[in-house]
Order: sequence, then structure tokens, then C-alpha cells
Amino acid sequence: MSKKYQCIQSENCKQAVIFARVSSKEQEPGASLDAQHDIMAEYCQKRGLAVLKNYRVIESSTVGKRTKFNEMLEFVKKQKQKTAIVVHCIDRFQRRFNECVAVEGLLKEDKIELHFYKEGLILNQNSSSADIMRWDMGILSAKMYIASMRDNVNRSMNYNWSLGKWQGRAPIGYLNTRDETNKATVIADPERAPIVKKLFEEYATGCHSLRSIWKLAQEMNLDSFRSKTKKSISRVAVYNMLTNPFYYGEMVVKGQVIPHIYEPLIDKSLFDKVQDLLSGKKIHCKEQVYGGLPFAFRGLIKCAHCGCTLSEETHKKTNGKTYTYLRCGRLKGPCDQELVSESVILNQLDEEVFSKIRINSDIVELLKKNIQQRLIDEEKVNAVMKRQITNEIEKLNVRERRVKDVFFDGGIDRSEWEEEKVNIEAKRKELQKTIEKYADITQEIKDTVNDVLDIAASASMIMKTSDPLQKRELLGLLLSDCYLDGQKLIYKIQKPFDKLLVGSKFEGIVDFHKENIAAFSSLANDIHVYHENMKRLAVGC
Ligand SMILES: [Zn+2]
Repeated sequence: MSKKYQCIQSENCKQAVIFARVSSKEQEPGASLDAQHDIMAEYCQKRGLAVLKNYRVIESSTVGKRTKFNEMLEFVKKQKQKTAIVVHCIDRFQRRFNECVAVEGLLKEDKIELHFYKEGLILNQNSSSADIMRWDMGILSAKMYIASMRDNVNRSMNYNWSLGKWQGRAPIGYLNTRDETNKATVIADPERAPIVKKLFEEYATGCHSLRSIWKLAQEMNLDSFRSKTKKSISRVAVYNMLTNPFYYGEMVVKGQVIPHIYEPLIDKSLFDKVQDLLSGKKIHCKEQVYGGLPFAFRGLIKCAHCGCTLSEETHKKTNGKTYTYLRCGRLKGPCDQELVSESVILNQLDEEVFSKIRINSDIVELLKKNIQQRLIDEEKVNAVMKRQITNEIEKLNVRERRVKDVFFDGGIDRSEWEEEKVNIEAKRKELQKTIEKYADITQEIKDTVNDVLDIAASASMIMKTSDPLQKRELLGLLLSDCYLDGQKLIYKIQKPFDKLLVGSKFEGIVDFHKENIAAFSSLANDIHVYHENMKRLAVGC
């Protein structure tokens, strides 16, 4: 025996169990199960210890219940005679302090003796506090070993970041690949990069809400690159894209923005413009004035032939009058949709929609009261739901940390870890998406509901008397899925206004609204849902 064996095996300890452990898939030479076992078998022979049982264990020392470990403790507990537990080294035995209680109990009862081969440490009932301390230090350093592995990974990631290298999945519009030296790198995705660029440019025109740019992204078949099922892109993903500095040459790492080495898809001025629009620093088209004239339909109508958003332009005729026309943007190539005068469409809508909306002021007040009460009730429900989902998210966070521990302990390999990380991230995103549904009901929303009812009540009048900006706002509220096909506008009337439209049929019937109030209770709900959506979807217009 080497000199480092300062501690003495007790006289009455004649039998042993051998405890050899590896984390799954761990294949370090010398630490493998066979190697551990052989060394300790020899050790037991030299020390005159009869081996009662061999434990060859594949389990993590830091995660899970450590079934085998506990089984082994139970086994030695049952022995009539004192039993040595022979282990290769402390970190093969344990990396956590919480098992010490059980083990210390058995030591105190003189049921066991602990033999740590590598450390040359034997612990029993008579161990000095110095030896106990060495044990503690051993566990501590095993823990530190895990921590240092973690540090190594973090260091290498930090190093790569400092070189401007992206770690992890490339943002949409880029692809992860390997360079000629087989090192991970990121390149522009030949298929999606042009789409991403186009979307930035489109949004920068100021004529898009987040919803319309999202729709455009879907039309351009920008699929969610992470999904194997080629699911179309989510609104959140589009928002994340528009706010990701990666596209002009910087990446966000731990909350800091640092330059990266990959090809930018756009320049910074375009990115900044988009950020200004998103943050509301810059106003959207509805407040913008083009050629001295704001347009009622800007960004609202699409071409029925090719799906492009129609733009508006003014033409000055020789008689000195200015006319407004709608024109197909032709973003997707040639299109045979003709120029159409704005007044043609306004006339169509006036006839089909605005002249038919009727809602009297008594009903407006009743609906307002009804909806406000509904909002208050919903606020309470939302608070409960939010709390539940937040708890779920916190559970996921805990799980993520645990899985990381398992990985660093060798319990799973990198690909399993990565896969689990992706799973957890997906679930978390899903929950975060769900939590959005239960957003706070702000005073702003409550005010908007009132505004909308007032607007609905006076829609017809607004269309006749107001300026193009107000018209546009009203049109945006009332209509959806607007397509221009030749001279004809195809459209849907948004809930809840479709219900209001039928009012004119009953004109002349006294107290129509009061008799039909039941029919309007779902209307109240529609208005609320509709406006919640507006709030969430629309940035600007
Ligand atoms: Zn077209």
C-alpha cells in the first residue's frame, strides 16, 4: 500500500461491497466499469476483504433517485457484520452532499466503512474530523468538476462570440453549414434571404401593420425554418425577424449586441427605419401624406389577380382636378389589374355598407356597459390563467437546468441534450404564446371598445363628411379580406359590424334594438375579441 493511506481499516471489517459507477455513455479509460472493478477487486484482496457483492452501476450521481446507490445502502444495512463500501474515488460515489446523511448514519452506527481507493481515504466510526473533512472536500471538488466543465463550455462559447461567430441555430434567412475546414458556419439562405430582405423593405414603406407583413411573409412562402412539417411562419417569428440585428451584421449575445462575421442581408439604415416603425417612433402610412393627399385605402386592399397590396396614387387631370387611383403594386411580376378610381370603390361601399349600418344611441350606451362588465370579468379570469401558465414555464426552466446537469454529468450525450433543449424551448414558446392570450386588459382597450361603438354608430356620417384619414381608419375597422377585381371590391365585413348591417332591414320597427338585445349580446363579445386582436396585431395601422 502507498504511504498516503493514513487511515486505518478497522479490525472487525472483513467484508465489502464494490461500488463501481459510470454515467451512461461515459467511456473514459480507467474510469470504465471494468477498470474500476478490477482495481477494487485487487484492493479488497490485498486488504483481506471478502467481496459480498459487486455493484456495477450506470447512473448519474447528480440527477434522479440513484436507485442502485440506495439499493446498495439497503444491502449493507441488512448485513450483520460491518461492511466496507469500496469505491474507486469520491466522485464515483457521490457528487452531492445530501446523501451524506444516510451514509454518515451508517458510519456512526458502525455498520459500514468507506474506502476511497484513489484518495487513499478510509472512513469509519472512529474517523477524525480531518478525514471527514477530506471526504467533504472530495465531494466539493467533484461538484466543482461539473462546474468547471460548464465553465469550459461557456468559455469556448464566449471565445467564439468574441470572434463574431454565431452559436446555435441561424436566424431565418440564414443556414447553418460547415466550411471547407469542417467548422460550423452560417451562410445566407439562397431561398429565404431574398424574402427576408423584401419583407424588411416592405415594412419600411410604413404601409404595413405587423399583421399585414406577417400575411405577406406567408404569401411569399416564408416557412418556419425550425419546423420539420414546413409550417407557415408565425407572427411572433416575423416580429422576431424584423427586430433581429443579425440581418445587418450584429448579433445579440447575452443581452449585448456585438458584430458578427457573416454576410448581412440588409443595411443598418433599413433596419433602423423598421425599428422606428415598430416602436411607433415613426408614424405609419395612415397618418402620412403622399403628394399632399392622404389615402383612404392605403394598405387595405389587395389585387385579386396577383395578391399584391394595392398602392394609391393621384393623377391631375387637365381640368385641374386631382383624382386618386388604386394600382396593383406588381411585386410578383406583371399583372393585368387595371387602375381604378378610389371614388368608384367608395361609392360601392357607401351603397352596400355605410348607408345600411344603423345603431341608435340608447343601444350604444347599453352595449358599452355590457362590454365593460365583460372586460372586468375577463380580467379576473386572465389573472388566474396567467399565474398557471407562469408556473408551467417555471417548471420548464427547472427542467432545462436539470437536463443541463444530466448532460454535464455525462448522463446524456450532446445530441440528446440539444434535442431536449429544442423540445423545452418549443414548449416554452407555446406557453408564452398562450400567455399572450391572457394579456392585461388595459384602460386603452376599454376606451377603444367605447370608441368603436361610437364609430359604428356614426359610420355612415363619417364616410360622408370626414377626411381620408378617418375614412381609412373606419375602413380598416369595418372591412377585411379586401380584394379588387377589375372595378369591383370584394370584401368581408368584420365581426361585429356584419350584425349591425342587418339593422336597416328593420327600419321603422319600433324598438327593434331592444327587442333584439339577445342577438346583440354575442355582438358585444365580437367587438371585444375583435379589438383585442386589433391591439395585438396592429402596430400603427
Ligand atoms: Zn395584381
